[in-house]
Amino acid sequence: MSFVIPAPAQPAARVAGAPGRLFPIRRIYCVGRNYVEHAKEMGFTGREPPFFFLKPADAAVPVAEGETGRIRYPSLTQDLHHEVELVVAIGQGGSDIPAVRALEHVWGYGVGLDMTRRDLQGEMKKLARPWCIGKAFEDSAPIGELRPAAQCRIDADTEIRLDVNGQTRQRSTIGKLIWSVPEIIEHLSKAWTLAPGDLIYTGTPEGVAATVRGDVLEASIAGVGSLELEVV
Ligand code: MN
Repeated sequence: MSFVIPAPAQPAARVAGAPGRLFPIRRIYCVGRNYVEHAKEMGFTGREPPFFFLKPADAAVPVAEGETGRIRYPSLTQDLHHEVELVVAIGQGGSDIPAVRALEHVWGYGVGLDMTRRDLQGEMKKLARPWCIGKAFEDSAPIGELRPAAQCRIDADTEIRLDVNGQTRQRSTIGKLIWSVPEIIEHLSKAWTLAPGDLIYTGTPEGVAATVRGDVLEASIAGVGSLELEVV
């Protein structure tokens, strides 16, 4: 059998410490409102159960450490927001994964940005329509190098941070996740069967704000990695 049109490229992320090695991306899951202070700034209490949305795999923009990635400012928005997030890379699939076994399914971690057309997301919320147009567009999922789990040092005090043009906009710690990585995997794998190549963007802390063409974004998670990006 052969394809009748050229096959699309396989989306992939770079791998830390392994030039030339790639992590193939199957699906991109995202967790909504997973830090209390961000839930509050969006008008919620921070006590709601986790919920999920997806981005297409080809929304990923892989960026190598030490390089400046580029994303195109998207169409139809006047309010493109940055959301810095810890990203979990799944290496072993499964469904109904209990939290106590969840970390066995994790290949590694990285830092990502859940770029959001906030104005369009807001309109869709008001109309009770799907968020796709606000969340799942081209270049909406920048992803830094993925680091194997055994090489990452993540604990409750691990800092997650985003600077824009040298000024800190978002700063928190991984301990402030409402739902931890094992709990996210437990919930997510009840609704979908996870598979190798799935990425999970685990939610953003407070401080989300608009970005404009020419901005340089520097996202980092101590002990995991960093990601530099220009909006063009
Ligand atoms: Mn997000």
